[in-house]
Amino acid sequence: MSEQKMNLTKKTLSVVVSVYNEEKGLRECYREMKGVLDTLSWDYELIFVNDGSADESFSIIKELAEADRKVKAVSFSRNFGHEAAMIAGLDYSSGDAVVCMDADLQHPPECLPKIVETLEKGYEVISMVRTRNASAGVLKNVTSAAFYWLINCISDVHFEPNASDFFAVTRPVAEVLKKSYREKVRFLRGYVQNVGFKKTTLEYEAGTRVAGESKYSIKKLLIFSVNTILCFSNMPLKLGIYAGVLSGAAGLIVLIYTLFTRQGAPSGYATIVVLICFMFAMMFLLIGIIGEYIAILFTELKDRPVYIVRETRNIKPPETDDSE
Ligand code: UDP
Ligand code: MG
Repeated sequence: MSEQKMNLTKKTLSVVVSVYNEEKGLRECYREMKGVLDTLSWDYELIFVNDGSADESFSIIKELAEADRKVKAVSFSRNFGHEAAMIAGLDYSSGDAVVCMDADLQHPPECLPKIVETLEKGYEVISMVRTRNASAGVLKNVTSAAFYWLINCISDVHFEPNASDFFAVTRPVAEVLKKSYREKVRFLRGYVQNVGFKKTTLEYEAGTRVAGESKYSIKKLLIFSVNTILCFSNMPLKLGIYAGVLSGAAGLIVLIYTLFTRQGAPSGYATIVVLICFMFAMMFLLIGIIGEYIAILFTELKDRPVYIVRETRNIKPPETDDSE
């Protein structure tokens, strides 16, 4: 059988790599990925999604795409964020399975053979779970643990702690993620874990960044965490009811105590000021929470595109370019 005929039956793996200002490590990322991908029994396409990098990242990607037809590129008109880059990768991918990875080699390409092996066993969703994060400090590890604990307490959706944006899905799952989860304020990792299908987890050790700095500042992480909590749980909206019941009950206790002991309400300036401050704080907090939900509704309603593509290399736009 000719090699060409054999290739027709070969499955294809789409590897999506989000890139934002990664000029220092991009060539090494490509070399390492290609080194592993060439050894697989599957064919592959390596899709770099340039998320509006301000450095030379896209020039490097263009060079790579010129020299290697398997390298494909999608470049945004500006920075839309990692989540948008991943969804664009899913939109443009055409393989039998899609793997999302970071460009800094913190998601080791050496895991790819194991991923392919697991896909061949019939698994449709593979979540890669970090066992160790060499580059994360104590603060990042503690806040990450706290975030997963909180979201698992208040959301009816389960989140795998230490899951990352490193995952693999088969084509049918990718189609569901593309078509049914087009929220503007998004958390792809959450959808991947809750889309159903035949799912498994694989462990990996996150290495240190190959070059450059993390693009996630504490501020960005905080906004991301708050949005995720609000998008996956209505519990904060119910805080008002609990706070109301609680302060009502406290008032009732004070009333009964005053009636039975025939004493006046606790007197003193401080008590009143503290009570007023506490009640106002509670009200402002609840108004703030409602405001956040309204902001999300507003963003969804505006229906602006999740990303805008400026140019591509070696790749055609998806059949329906529904970047909204
Ligand atoms: N990234 C992106 N857009 C952004 C920020 C980051 O595409 O606005 C990419 C970045 O280039 C990297 C991946 O997302 O490939 C993860 O980012 P980073 O390594 O900075 O995050 P960390 O590993 O520190 O959580
Ligand atoms: Mg990283």
